Order: sequence, then structure tokens, then C-alpha cells
Amino acid sequence: MTQMDKKITDTARIIKNSKKMCALTGAGISAESGIDPFRGKNGIWNRYDPEEYAHIDSFMRNPGKVWVMLKELLAVINSAEPNLGHKSLARLEEMGFLKSIITQNVDGLHQAGGSKKVIEFHGSNAFVLCMECGKKYNSKEISCETLPPKCACGGILRPDVVFFGEQIPPKALSESFSEARSCDVMLVIGTSALVTPAADIPVAAKENGAKIIEINPERTPLSIDIADITIEASAGRALPAIIEAIERT
Ligand code: NAD
Ligand code: ZN
Repeated sequence: MTQMDKKITDTARIIKNSKKMCALTGAGISAESGIDPFRGKNGIWNRYDPEEYAHIDSFMRNPGKVWVMLKELLAVINSAEPNLGHKSLARLEEMGFLKSIITQNVDGLHQAGGSKKVIEFHGSNAFVLCMECGKKYNSKEISCETLPPKCACGGILRPDVVFFGEQIPPKALSESFSEARSCDVMLVIGTSALVTPAADIPVAAKENGAKIIEINPERTPLSIDIADITIEASAGRALPAIIEAIERT
């Protein structure tokens, strides 16, 4: 048995013995769907520095400029399909093991992959909001011919996401930490664990005695101090292997 096989088998056993498992996901789980994570500055993040373009101050200063990036990102997200990682998490929920997903992603791919209980920690790109009257639009319905897109009232539209420099919506924040403090296993998948307060979620779970299982091809700050098991593989490879091991044993 390789070291990887052993980690997969150990994880399957921990999941089978768990009473309440929860998952925290980051941009890495959507990488195999063609949406580039920030870290590594691949693809579109070579051209748009996330530290600038994902910051609320940049958006307020020049919404038209940030919308050039958002338009491109929306096109990528709208044509992306859930991958085996997303689908495996939906399967784990269906099997009764996974109780909730806390995602930092704004791409809606967990729901598209069949997951029911999803907490969107950083909001969602599925909707945009008018900054004047608060009207909400489906982002597929708005015209991006002239940027920034505007509401019928003339107000500028913004995505319903949390920019750097903004607060996490209180409901998502309290639900996420309550899930973290009440689970006995947490899967942490495809997150660099550098963006707080999301990075504090696995710490809260660990403090409460949960086992932490990390899935990430690269090492992160969690790999050293927090994770009980780190599976160094992509989500699309590791999660189906875990399900296979659960079904086998
Ligand atoms: P991140 O970009 O900081 O880190 C991504 C992590 O995923 C890295 O640690 C990387 O090693 C890992 N990874 C890469 N490919 C993987 C794979 N196939 N399987 C598993 N792991 C893989 O992402 P983050 O930690 O989520 O934080 C950055 C912020 O960026 C978040 O707030 C998020 O909202 C936002 N973001 C979202 C999307 C999206 O919605 N898909 C995309 C880019 C950025
Ligand atoms: Zn309006």
C-alpha cells in the first residue's frame, strides 16, 4: 500500500465513524473546472492582480475598470461545469456523511454539482445588486455592453460577492463557525488558508476536537499545525478515491 493509499483508507474510516462532517472549500476545487485560483496567478490573474481587482476600494474608485475583469470572470464561470470534486461532495451528502459545505467560492458549482446545504462565505457571482436602490438581478440577465452595467434606476451594479476589505455577511459568518464548532470531521479542500476569517474556520473546528482532513496538491499553513491528514492530490482525484474506499470497506 502506498502512503497515498493509506491516507485515503484512513480518511474513509474516519468519515465512516463520523457523526457530523462538514467541508470547507476554496478556489482549488474549481481549478479542474477551468476556473483559476488566485494563488499561482494563472490565466486571468496574470492580467488582473487580485489584490487590486478584488478590493472594494478599487471597485469604488473605478467600477468600470473592475467590471472589465468581472465580465471576463462571469463568462468563465457561466461556461464552467462542476467536476468530480464537486460531484463527490454531493455524493457524500447523499450518502449521509456530509452535512454542509462552507465555500469561499463564488461560482455556484457546488449547487450545480448537486450539493444541497451550501454556505457561501464570500457571496456569489450569480447575482448583482444596484448600489443605489438595492435591486437584485440575475447576472446572466444584465447587459455588459457598456461598463459598468447599470440598474434601471441608473445606479451602478455590483456583484453580490464579498470584496477584500469588506465584511463577511453576518449570517454566513455565524452559520459557518457554528458548523465548525459542532462537526467532528472537517474536510478542507483547495484553499490556501491565507484569507481570514475563512482561514480561522478549520482552526475553530480543530479547537473543538474535530479531525481535519486537508486535500491540496500543495502544502499550506494548515498542513503543518492543523491537519490530521494531508492528502497531496487534486480534489478531482482524491475525493472519488475516498468514496471508493468508503464503499469498499
Ligand atoms: P487560493 O487561490 O488562495 O488557493 C487555492 C488553493 O487551491 C491553493 O492552495 C492550491 O494549491 C489549491 N489547488 C489548486 N488546484 C487544486 C486542485 N485541483 N484540487 C485541490 N486543491 C487545489 O484560493 P482560496 O483559498 O479559495 O482564497 C482566495 C479567494 O479567492 C477566495 O476568497 C475566493 O472567494 C476567491 N476565488 C474564488 C474563485 C471561484 O469562485 N472559483 C476563483 C478564484 C478566487
Ligand atoms: Zn437601482
